[in-house]
This record gives sequence, structure tokens and C-alpha cells, in this order.
Amino acid sequence: MAKRSKLLLFDVDCTLVNTGGAGISALKQAIVEVFGGAGPPLDLAGSTDSGIVRGIFGHFGREYDALIEEAFYEVYLPLMEANLRDESFGGRVLKGVPELLGDLEEAGHTLGLLTGNIERGGLIKVAHYGLAEYFQFGSYGDDHWDRNKLGSIAIQRANKHTGKSFTARDVIVIGDTCKDVVCAKAIGAPCLAVATGSVSAEALGECGADLVVPDLTVPEVRFFLGC
Ligand SMILES: [Mg+2]
Repeated sequence: MAKRSKLLLFDVDCTLVNTGGAGISALKQAIVEVFGGAGPPLDLAGSTDSGIVRGIFGHFGREYDALIEEAFYEVYLPLMEANLRDESFGGRVLKGVPELLGDLEEAGHTLGLLTGNIERGGLIKVAHYGLAEYFQFGSYGDDHWDRNKLGSIAIQRANKHTGKSFTARDVIVIGDTCKDVVCAKAIGAPCLAVATGSVSAEALGECGADLVVPDLTVPEVRFFLGC
């Protein structure tokens, strides 16, 4: 019997690419420009952009306003794009990523993004690092501020895009934080955790990742994902 093809949902930051701080630097600058002061300490790892923006409203004692949120992104996105082009940040694609994505596609799997970046931001990042061709759809931080809601949105988008009927049992989430692990568990899907971000392999294991690897070049990755 042919193996059922999988829907593989990839986080972006510190899973596929490391922007070297280009993103957080743009966020901090945009906070000053739009809110008029330095914001709260930012815990970006695994957070959604819209969740971060909600926290910023709270920090300044202001009521959430969707128009101001949009104005914030209009400032943030060009700053982020300029930072990505600034080589002093040292941004890069993580080791083994293009090769792995190519092999997974060749093996017949469907690839998508599941990221806390807003859609425009996520697409700017994957395009900048030459990975856009692998991702035709995704679920993003502007679909919902709660990352745990993004898995089911990604499945709906995958089915719409491919005409297939993926369910949660066909999904594997690949990410670098406990928030990625928890959002996989929220739809009952396994999570491959890669310790290329700020979270240790030990901590990723403790929060329930099904496989933890130091980076995406190790052979177990291909075995686990099926290529
Ligand atoms: Mg990440």
C-alpha cells in the first residue's frame, strides 16, 4: 500500500531561517514610531505577531484598535525588509533546509507554513531566503493571535489549495519552540522540534515534542518525515 502523503507545516523563524535579529529590530523600531515609546520586553519565540501587537497595546494602556494594528504593520514590514537586506544582521537559511524541502516535495508531501509571522511578513522572509517556491499556502499570525488556532486553519488552506482531504492525522508540525509543540498538540498532530532557536533540545523534549533534533540535517529527520 502506498504511504499516505503528509501535510508538513513549517514554522519560519529559527526553523527554516535565522534573520539574525532583523525581525525584532524592525518590531522595536516600529513600536517607537507608532506607539511613541519603547515597548515591553518582547518574547518573540513562537509568538504570533498579532499577539505581540496586542501585548503592546496593553503595555501602553491603550485599547486594541485594528486600524492602528494595520498601521503598525505598514511601518514594520518595510523596516523588516530593509533589515533583511542589511548583511550586518548575518541572517541566513538554516543548515540543510533547502535540500530537505526539495526532497520532501519530491517524495510527494505537501508543504505549508505555520508561523506567527503575519502573512506578508512570513512571505517576505521565505522569499528573501529563496524558499518561496516550496510554500504555496500557510496559516499566519494575522489569521489568529492564538497560535493554537493556526493548525486547523492550515489544514483548511491545504485542502483548498491541493483539492486533497488532509486531516490532523496527516499533519506533522516542524518548529523550534514549545509553542510550536503545543500548537501541534492542539490539533492532535506530532511535532518535530529542532533546537536551532532559543529553546534547548532538553526543554523541547520536556514540552512533548515527538522527535527533537539539533538541526534538520540529521538522518532521523528524513525518516520521521518520510523521505
Ligand atoms: Mg520559530
